[in-house]
Amino acid sequence: MAAVKDCLFCKIIKGEIPCNKVYEDKDTIAFLDIHPINKGHALVLPKKHSETILDTDVKQLEKVMAIVKKIAGVVVKTVKADGFEICINNKKAAGQVVPHLHVHIIPRFNNDGLRYDWATKEYKGNEAKEIAGKIKNLL
Ligand code: 5GP
Ligand code: ZN
Repeated sequence: MAAVKDCLFCKIIKGEIPCNKVYEDKDTIAFLDIHPINKGHALVLPKKHSETILDTDVKQLEKVMAIVKKIAGVVVKTVKADGFEICINNKKAAGQVVPHLHVHIIPRFNNDGLRYDWATKEYKGNEAKEIAGKIKNLL
């Protein structure tokens, strides 16, 4: 398993830094986030180091997401959540602090007071059509 020196999550995977582990198999590990947004907030990650979903192979992602599904259901049940969020921050601009791919499972409760205050943007003229066209052509 190619661990990356100085990667916090690689160190957790190797057992060099403790964590509240909830799941582990050959390829995947899951543990509680040390600073939970809500109690039960868990992180699921591939053991093989990669930074974002773009440099993670699809098979690894499939495995991680299958485990996310399994763990999310149990987290919700454990903390009696009303819902949950699944999110991956990719790169610093998107809020990624630890550059080892990880999926957040964040339990949500009715009226828990958490909200995204993201102002939305507007497309001008044909902009949306042009961007959609460019994306489509590159796929
Ligand atoms: P990111 O912003 O990279 O998507 O999320 C990194 C997450 O890792 C944060 O939610 C942060 O609380 C969590 N975290 C940072 N250091 C540690 C640690 O040493 N142990 C655990 N369990 N979680 C950590
Ligand atoms: Zn790593």
